[in-house]
Amino acid sequence: VAGRRHLTAIASRVLPTTLAWSLSDAEGQTLIGDASPLPSAAVRPAAAAGLPWTLHVFNAPGPQPPTPQRPFLLLVLVLVTLVLGAGWFFIFRSLARERQIAELQSDFVAAVSHEFRSPLTSIGHISELLAHGRLEADGPRREAYGVLVRDTARLRGLVEGLLDFGRFDAGPSAFRFEEIDVGELVETTVADFRDRAAAEGFRIDVVGSLESVVARADREAMTRALWNLLDNAVKYSPDSRTIRVELAATGDRVAVGVRDRGIGIPSEEQQRIFDRFVRGTAAKSRRIRGTGIGLAMVRQIVAAHGGEIAVASEPGQGSCFTIQLPVVSRGSETWRACSSSKTNPALPSA
Ligand code: ADP
Repeated sequence: VAGRRHLTAIASRVLPTTLAWSLSDAEGQTLIGDASPLPSAAVRPAAAAGLPWTLHVFNAPGPQPPTPQRPFLLLVLVLVTLVLGAGWFFIFRSLARERQIAELQSDFVAAVSHEFRSPLTSIGHISELLAHGRLEADGPRREAYGVLVRDTARLRGLVEGLLDFGRFDAGPSAFRFEEIDVGELVETTVADFRDRAAAEGFRIDVVGSLESVVARADREAMTRALWNLLDNAVKYSPDSRTIRVELAATGDRVAVGVRDRGIGIPSEEQQRIFDRFVRGTAAKSRRIRGTGIGLAMVRQIVAAHGGEIAVASEPGQGSCFTIQLPVVSRGSETWRACSSSKTNPALPSA
C-alpha cells in the first residue's frame, strides 16, 4: 500500500537523525533500510503491529552528538584526575622528604658515633698504658696526659654541644634574656676561644669595636652561637691560620661577622647548611669532624633573638658568617662591615 519512498519520508519526519531504521519481512529479509551490524535499540515484530513487517530501530553509526550530561561528566573526570594527580604528587613528595630526613638522621647517628669513638679509643688506649706502667719516662707520660686532657675536653665539648642543641631547639622558653653589652660578650668569647685556637696555631683578630651597644640577649646562647662560628672557621681552614671577627653597628642593628680563608662553601649549599644534620660535601669528602647541628643551632639562637644569620662564601676563598641582632641602645661605635658578598681579600693568609 505504502511504497518505499512514502515510508522513508514518514520515517525521516518522525525519527531523529541519530536513529536509523529498517523493515524486514517474515523471513527476516530486509525490505527497506540497511541491515545494521549493530544490535537493534528497539524491535517491533510483525505480529505486534498486525502488519507483515518487523520494524528495527537502532543508533545511527557515526559520532553521536554530545548529550547534555557529557560536558559535566568530562569536567568531573578532569577534576578527579587532577585530584588523584595532586594526591600522588604530595604522597611522593612527602615520601621523598621522609626518606631524606631518615638518611640525614642516620648520617647524624653515624657522625656522632664516630665523633665519640675516636677520643674514647685514644683515652682507653692511653689509660691502659698508664695502668700497666708502660709509660715510665717523664716525656711520654706528660705527652699522654696532654692527650687525655685534649680528648676529654673534646668529649665534653661534644656532649655539651648535643645538650645545647636539644635545649635551644625547645624554643623561646629555653632562653633567659637580659640586656648585655655585645662588644663585651664578643671580646670575652674571642679571648676564651683564642686559648684553644692558639694551640692549633690560629690567630684571631678582632676588627672594629662596639662601645656600649646593648642588645637583649641570652648570654650563654649567644656565646654558644659565636663559639660555633669560630670553631667552624678553624675546622674548615686547613691552610690558613687567621680568623677575623668583624664588628659593625648600623641603625638599630649590630653585626658580628666571622671571616675565614678556608675551603669555602659552594653557592648551592649555602642555604641548606643551616638545616639540622646537613653537612657540606667538602666537609664529608675531606673527612672533617662534625655532626651537622652547629649552624642549625646558631640559626635557632639568632632567630630567638629576633636576628638573622647570613653567609657569604666562595669555594677555595673562604667564608664570612654574619649574625645581625636588634639593639636596645647604642653608644659610639666604629664601623667595619662583614656584609660584602665577597670574602675580604685584605685578610692575610697563613
Ligand atoms: P658541622 O661543622 O658539624 O658539619 P655545621 O652545622 O656547623 O655542622 O655546619 C654545616 C656545614 O656547613 C658543614 O658540614 C660545612 O660543610 C659547612 N660549613 C660551616 N662553616 C663553614 C666554614 N667556616 N667554612 C666552610 N664550610 C663551613
